[in-house]
Amino acid sequence: MRENKQSQSDIYFTEHILSLTPYASARDEYAGAEGVFLDANENPYSSADGQGYNRYPDPYQWAVKRKIGLMKGVQPAQIFLGNGSDEPIDLLIRAACEPRQDNMLIMPPTYGMYQVCADVQNIETLKVPLTPDFQIDTNAVLAAINPFTKIVWVCSPNNPSGNLLSRRSIIQILENFRGLVVVDEAYIDFAAAAPDSFVAELENYPNLVVLQTFSKAWGLAGLRLGMAFASSGIVGVLNKIKYPYNINILTQQALLQTLNFEERKNEMVRQILYERENLRQQLALLPFVSYIYPSDSNMLLAKFDDAQAVFDYLVGQKIIVRNRSKVQLCAGCLRVSVGTAQENNSLIDSLLKFKP
Ligand SMILES: *Cc1c(COP(=O)(O)O)cnc(C)c1O
Repeated sequence: MRENKQSQSDIYFTEHILSLTPYASARDEYAGAEGVFLDANENPYSSADGQGYNRYPDPYQWAVKRKIGLMKGVQPAQIFLGNGSDEPIDLLIRAACEPRQDNMLIMPPTYGMYQVCADVQNIETLKVPLTPDFQIDTNAVLAAINPFTKIVWVCSPNNPSGNLLSRRSIIQILENFRGLVVVDEAYIDFAAAAPDSFVAELENYPNLVVLQTFSKAWGLAGLRLGMAFASSGIVGVLNKIKYPYNINILTQQALLQTLNFEERKNEMVRQILYERENLRQQLALLPFVSYIYPSDSNMLLAKFDDAQAVFDYLVGQKIIVRNRSKVQLCAGCLRVSVGTAQENNSLIDSLLKFKP
C-alpha cells in the first residue's frame, strides 16, 4: 500500500500497477529545452540522413497536447496519446484488470480490439449483445456486471453497425457502474451529434474515458495516433505504464502541422457524408440488398441475400469490402467504407453487373 493519500482515480487500477516504479527517462529528470545534453547517450551530431532525428522525442508530447487541448476544450494533462487507439485500449485493460480474476464487458457486434487485448492478458470478456437495432440493452448490461467487472466498453458510433448509441443508456451505465466506462468515439466527426462528444462530460463522470483517433476523419491512419481523454489521474496511470517514447518525433511534427488544417478535415467529412448518402441511395436500388442500416459514421452496413457470393464476386473485381456476415447480429451483412465518388461508382457499377 502507498502511504500518501490515494488519488480518486486509484480505485480503478490494480494494486501492482499503482505501486510499481515507472522507468525514469533522461527527459523525465530534466525537461528544459535548452542546455548541453549529455544525459541520454544520443548521437550529438545528427541522424545519419542529416535530418536531425538524433534526439529523443518529448515523452509526454506537450506541444501536441496543448494544441489538441485547445481544440477539444480539455487540459493537456487530461490527454493521453498512443500508437493508435489500440495503445490506450491495451493499457487501460492492463492497468485495470487482474488476469484470471477480473473481467470487462463488451457489447457485440463491436470493435474487435477490445476482446483481443483482453485475450492477450488472459482477462475474461463478458458479452452483452446490442439489441437487433444495435442499441444498448441497458438493463442486461447492468445485470451482467459483477464485482470483478472493471471496464465497460461502449463504441459510439459503433463499428461495424455505424450508428450512434443512445446517450441516455451510456449515462445510465456511467452512473450505475463504479468501474471505468470507455466510450470509443473513433467516428464521432461523422456523426450529426459531433458537438455532443462525451469529452464534454469528463468533469461530471470521474470513471469516464473517451477514445478518439486521427485515423478516420483526419486521414492520418498511417501515422498511428490515438487519443484518450480522462481525468488527469487516469491519464497519469497510463503515462506511467506506456513505453517512455511512444510517439516518435516525425509523428509529433506531422500532427502539429496537420492540426492547422481542421477546416480541410471538416470539408472532407462533409464530402464523405454527401457520398455516403449517394452510396446509400444507389445500394438501396439493388434488388439483392434487403436492408441498409442507419449510419452516423463513414461506413454503411448492408444486408444482402447472399453476402458471401457478393463478397467473393467483388474481390474478383478487385473491390474489397468487409464481410461481417459471420458476426453476431450481422448475418448477411457486408460493411462498406464510404470512398471517393469514383470508388463508390466502381462499386455500384460492379454490383449492377452481379448475377445473383
Ligand atoms: C478505426 C477504429 C479505431 C481507431 O484505431 P486506431 O488504432 O486509432 O487506428 C478505434 N476504434 C474503433 C471502433 C475503430 O473502428
